[in-house]
Amino acid sequence: MNNSFTLLREQQIPEINSLARLYRHNQTGAELLSIINDDENKSFGITFRTPSADSTGLAHIMEHSVLCGSRKYPVKEPFIELVKGSLNTFLNAMTFSDKTTYPVASTNLQDFYNLVDVYLDAVFFPLIPEHTLAQEGWHYELDSPDAPLEYKGVVFNEMKGAYSSPDNRLGTVIEESLFPDHPYQFDAGGNPEVIPNLTYAQFKKFHETYYHPSNARIYFYGDDDPEKRLELLETYLQEFDRLEVHSEVPLRAPFDEPRRAEYPYDAGEDTAQKAMTSVNWVLAPHTDRERGLAFGMLSHILSGTPASPLRKTLIDSGLGEDVTGGLDTQIQQLVFSAGLKGLADENAGKVETLILETLQKLADDGLDPHAVEASLNTFEFRLRENNTGGFPRGLSLMMCTLASWIYDGDPIEPLGFEEPLQTIKAKIAAGEPYFENLIRTFLLDNPHRTTVLLKPDPNLRARTEAAERARLDATRAAMTD
Ligand SMILES: [Zn+2]
Repeated sequence: MNNSFTLLREQQIPEINSLARLYRHNQTGAELLSIINDDENKSFGITFRTPSADSTGLAHIMEHSVLCGSRKYPVKEPFIELVKGSLNTFLNAMTFSDKTTYPVASTNLQDFYNLVDVYLDAVFFPLIPEHTLAQEGWHYELDSPDAPLEYKGVVFNEMKGAYSSPDNRLGTVIEESLFPDHPYQFDAGGNPEVIPNLTYAQFKKFHETYYHPSNARIYFYGDDDPEKRLELLETYLQEFDRLEVHSEVPLRAPFDEPRRAEYPYDAGEDTAQKAMTSVNWVLAPHTDRERGLAFGMLSHILSGTPASPLRKTLIDSGLGEDVTGGLDTQIQQLVFSAGLKGLADENAGKVETLILETLQKLADDGLDPHAVEASLNTFEFRLRENNTGGFPRGLSLMMCTLASWIYDGDPIEPLGFEEPLQTIKAKIAAGEPYFENLIRTFLLDNPHRTTVLLKPDPNLRARTEAAERARLDATRAAMTD
């Protein structure tokens, strides 16, 4: 028995044929969720809560940077070398609006242990010298003494690409519109106009503050030895003491009334039929398991298939080319959105009216009970089958648990679904207008709603480039003096 950890809970989860053990590391307060089963595709992930205070992309740049060399693996690109030699079934790192996660999976035990060790060393003991920030984040570049000054950097370039992708822009502005005065208003990936404000001092401080065991959620899953997991972790965690980390993500207070926002976007020269509009709602915090499941079902009922009433109405309207939206489950408060892309600017208002009228009609007249039943069956089948495609099942479950755990919610409850599923089915069987009530309460009567319009602007690119050029030329002039 390992006495570095305290076992907080132990629970069988029949839905996934697993035993779950939740531990706290005594010295640091790090939490460990250890899932024990016979899946040979072993999974591991370490996740830090990393809310943004600006749009410099600090969290994203840190995610890249810690993988550029660490105390035990000082070679420049251990990550790349590992990918080449490893038998892994998944190896990546991901930055979300409020968390950064480092997941790996492998069916080979020794390979799995190697990967876990590399990741633990990378996140806790990265080298991150100043030139790593320059390389991965941003730096000035001068090709020759007479050449104009340029910004370069891996994340800087990556985000320039992301900012020219309309779908990516839509996701970012939806969050920005719904969460003013809140960490979610910032772009954790980084806005290319803001990235060059990031300093090395901020970069170092961010790592010291958030990449600490006291701010970590650690996850193991599969058929590897559960005691060995604790031993592996202890070799790293023992070097730390407990730290008071203030990384909590507050709930955004609801709006008093719905809001509208318009954003320009770069759609190239031809701007006809290129607008995108989306109506978006903040639904409820994740921590309510029944609600979370119910909103997933509602999203499927409304727009999951070509025959779904909201999707069909939008497509049949002929106003736009394709439907956008769905349920966003990767932030603390669930967001549902629905919209159209490929429409004429002047038709944007019609889309909002159409969406609200359709929802009103569905709430008043009731949903087609056969369609609801079909959706429920599909949803239940998917839950039971848990077919995650090429993505390791263990990591899919990790993302489920993080949706609650990272906000100090229950990490084990989201792994099961039988209880909330039966509750919902029983209410529907008893004749309760369950989904109609959800539509009324959380969509129609909910003032925390925005309608965003992404309007193609043929001059946006030139304006952005001119502004960047002016900043760079001013810097260049200051250098010469
Ligand atoms: Zn990246």
